[in-house]
Amino acid sequence: MNDRSAPLRWSEVTDLGDGIWAVDTGFIRPLFDASHLIVENGRAAFVDVATSYCVPRLLGALADQGLTPADVDYVILTHVHLDHGGGAGALMRQLPGAQLVVHPRGARHVIDPTKLIAGASAVFGEEAVRRGYGEILPVDAERVIEAPEGFTLEVGGRPLHFIDSPGHARHHVGIWDEASRSWFTGDTFGLAYPELAGDRGVFIIPTTTPVQFDPAALEASIGRMLEKQPRAMLLTHYSRVTDPERLAGDLLEQVRALVEMGRDADRSLDRAAHLRAAMGEYLVGRAIDHGCPLSPEQLREFLSHDVELNAQGLEVWLDRAKK
Ligand SMILES: [Zn+2]
Repeated sequence: MNDRSAPLRWSEVTDLGDGIWAVDTGFIRPLFDASHLIVENGRAAFVDVATSYCVPRLLGALADQGLTPADVDYVILTHVHLDHGGGAGALMRQLPGAQLVVHPRGARHVIDPTKLIAGASAVFGEEAVRRGYGEILPVDAERVIEAPEGFTLEVGGRPLHFIDSPGHARHHVGIWDEASRSWFTGDTFGLAYPELAGDRGVFIIPTTTPVQFDPAALEASIGRMLEKQPRAMLLTHYSRVTDPERLAGDLLEQVRALVEMGRDADRSLDRAAHLRAAMGEYLVGRAIDHGCPLSPEQLREFLSHDVELNAQGLEVWLDRAKK
């Protein structure tokens, strides 16, 4: 069965139906980092916005729908990692009536992004952050709305329900859209790159990025999302996937395997090298078994960035568990 869903061919803005569009922000590469635009009764909201470089694309996507910046009521961040919210401050300056909606733990970081920039610089290096993410501007405190567990918001009368969804990060929300019966999952429901989709549907991997990966919390968050019996999941990396049950099973199996791999590497002499080698072999092996249309060499290269980030996150988690 082929359960992979649009978009497969690249286009900057893809109509997903139900008043939702995926905007390819262009961050890193095509079909890597999506912003989702929700439109209802002439009112609009963005879910995740990538970096300040992407602001023109987001405004372009609005214009495509015959909307102006004044029609945007909300900019919603699933969490404050910079590939999701780095451009929020820059975008908010273009949207006169919008409010920014974020997890209570993320609010102070969008108001004062100093710590976010320092955190990303520790992972990627200062120069790479400056080059990759552009200007990271603060958002005025009076324009920030905190969205705790149980929070509800309406876009043009269309309700969006928020849950606390820790596991990938503690400042992460999941957003349930009853109209499309789908979740905006940010990074909680992993990564599904279109390049890796094969005859057996999309290939999904979890993201255990530093510094707040928590496997038990991640399992619980994924479980809560499934309780709604969603039709689809809207991932930031990358966009709409169907067959949530199968994908959740794939994710949980991998989270458990990665945790075991981390513990195993922790007992070895060179944890960092051991963990990266084991994880690379494991993920590439799964991708081959899944029928991903890349060669083993291409897969190793394609997944190397995620292997590195996931390994870093697992190591932080291992060290935290010892304290
Ligand atoms: Zn993230």
